[in-house]
Amino acid sequence: MTALMTTQHIKFRSAEFATSASKVSECPLDIGSEVAFAGRSNAGKSSAINALTRNPSLARTSKTPGRTQLLNFFNLNIDQCRLVDLPGYGYAKVPVAMQLKWRKHLNEYLEVRASLSGLVLVMDIRHPLKEFDRMIIDWCIASELPLHLLLTKADKFKKNGIMKAKMEVKKGLPEHPEGLISMQSFSASKGDGIADLERQLVLWMKPAINAISVATDSNATINHEQIISPTHQTSPSED
Ligand code: GDP
Repeated sequence: MTALMTTQHIKFRSAEFATSASKVSECPLDIGSEVAFAGRSNAGKSSAINALTRNPSLARTSKTPGRTQLLNFFNLNIDQCRLVDLPGYGYAKVPVAMQLKWRKHLNEYLEVRASLSGLVLVMDIRHPLKEFDRMIIDWCIASELPLHLLLTKADKFKKNGIMKAKMEVKKGLPEHPEGLISMQSFSASKGDGIADLERQLVLWMKPAINAISVATDSNATINHEQIISPTHQTSPSED
């Protein structure tokens, strides 16, 4: 009950660049909860992150020279809650050898990261389910990582077009456990769908936030095992 009373609210506009990592060993401590954003280059991922955080320059951070590494972490107002931008994937400018290296490190990140509570896959509503998207979807299904499909640039379609696109994506998905994959339309330019996206992220991060509130409440030292997201346990050794 105390936890309910004191649970802090995530303010997405509080997001601040924290650090870049080119491999898992450079990531922040694997505690709390983080949600990662993936998407092919030009899908609209930066615009979606900027719309969510109401910060028009935030995700540009990930595109500035020196920070075009694999993972960019953004801290939120709640301790140990983060957004993660997985940039660079599919960039035409990046040499193939580098892309293969990124693919290896990305797989490793997705596999080992216990605090990863869910993944948002950003796809241009007009061009969904490309090879990279399918790879991410297959991986999420295999590892039972909750996945939210963000069909962006929805302003390019009328209502009917949006509905049709959603139905086609739904039909095109591989078999998966019920409730693992959710989907919404989104428009960064119009600001449509921000509230739905926020709701999904809060849902994923809530268990960790509650655990943090309880630990803070009881004035106890935060037990790191307690605040690791329970939604994504990849191996028995993490239990
Ligand atoms: P990223 O490479 O996935 O980070 O993609 P960006 O966010 O940089 O967007 C790529 C292009 O799509 C840019 O020209 C954006 O202005 C445009 N774009 C992004 N989101 C939207 C949207 O919701 N609607 C429309 N019409 N264009 C968008």
